[in-house]
Amino acid sequence: MMTFEDALKHLKEENIRITPQRIAIIEFLATTNEHPTAEDIYHAIENDFPGMSVATIYNNLRLFTEIGMIKEMNYGDASSHFDFHTEPHYHAICSQCGKIVDFHYPGLEDVEMAASNLTGFKVNSHRLEVYGICPECQGKVSEK
Ligand code: ZN
Ligand code: MN
Repeated sequence: MMTFEDALKHLKEENIRITPQRIAIIEFLATTNEHPTAEDIYHAIENDFPGMSVATIYNNLRLFTEIGMIKEMNYGDASSHFDFHTEPHYHAICSQCGKIVDFHYPGLEDVEMAASNLTGFKVNSHRLEVYGICPECQGKVSEK
């Protein structure tokens, strides 16, 4: 996973100005295992930046996405989540609380191969999510 220092270096290489807001956003992304939305980051740092808007955060996240520093995850729900882990991995998504958990598994190259054979596509990537109920939400159900 990319560290805070790597991220700053990346911004410098892209000639992107390192502002206190950008530092705060990157600090948050580098220390969380969650996959935050712009709103999540906003609520985490808003006290330090009076007058800042969610749109400012979102624009910075888009900028970081454009240079490949983070990944935007669009799962069709209201707001995009952002992932600081850019190495290949898959996601398990809780359909009760919406939590997104990383898991690593060998690349599903055979699926890409099958898709290619069946469709004639030249396949260059794939994405996999599994959906279910996370351990915490399972606990809540059984307490009833
Ligand atoms: Zn859950
Ligand atoms: Mn992830």
